[in-house]
Amino acid sequence: MVPRAVSIAALVEDYNGILLDAYGILVDARGALPGAAALIELLVRRAKPYAVVTNDASRSVATYVARFAALGLPIEGDRIITSGSLLPGYFRERGLVGARTCVLGTEDSFALVREGGGVPIDLVPPIELDAVAICDDAGTPFLDGIELALSGIVRAVEAGRRPALVLPNPDLVYPKGGGELGFTAGAMALLIEAALARRFPGANLVFDRLGKPEPHLFLAAARRLALPPARLVMVGDQLETDIAGARSAGIDAALLAGISRWDDRGADLAPTYLLATIAP
Ligand SMILES: [Mg+2]
Repeated sequence: MVPRAVSIAALVEDYNGILLDAYGILVDARGALPGAAALIELLVRRAKPYAVVTNDASRSVATYVARFAALGLPIEGDRIITSGSLLPGYFRERGLVGARTCVLGTEDSFALVREGGGVPIDLVPPIELDAVAICDDAGTPFLDGIELALSGIVRAVEAGRRPALVLPNPDLVYPKGGGELGFTAGAMALLIEAALARRFPGANLVFDRLGKPEPHLFLAAARRLALPPARLVMVGDQLETDIAGARSAGIDAALLAGISRWDDRGADLAPTYLLATIAP
């Protein structure tokens, strides 16, 4: 199927609910993106069900509401679904209450781990850990952080333990603004996984991925809006996460060129639509 060029106004007209990525659609690291305020205003005026679905695990929902508001985007907390919000449930379901956890990320990331019963440890070598949560590139030191985590995991595996490894945000890069790209949590996890694969061949020490393209966030959004996936459309800027994830959850997907450009890389990554702008 060849993606069809479409306008955001047509999507708002044709679908019962709209799912919006945050970074690269509504905001970048510098501020609100063109058209974002007008789109939110249209959705509010039309009383159109919508939700923000983001792989960000560096901000609580309350922090997001405040940041959006400061950027002129009046978005209520019950419309914001972050990959970080899946962390407390992950810790509880995996029996990780009390787990000594190496958390890489912000204060909000630490709070999400604590909410699930994990116990963040001081990042001072040598660390002894039961779990690693890579939430964000910001907050804790990027290189020192991944080196501490790698060393702690190696120490645990050599002692016969298998630490829980969790990655709420599988994104590799994010838009910093002005055409610049930044590495984020998914890239940090890839470095650690590559080193672990050499140290422990065949052990398959890989991170559990919670955010897009896994289905959890999309299905949470569908439940939140009380709409079936087939009546929703996802608007995102990354083929591997927003588009592939939405499509596999049964949700149509529109790509706004940004981190990803559409070129035919197969049906799994094919957006339903191409958007030139999110300005209505
Ligand atoms: Mg994005």
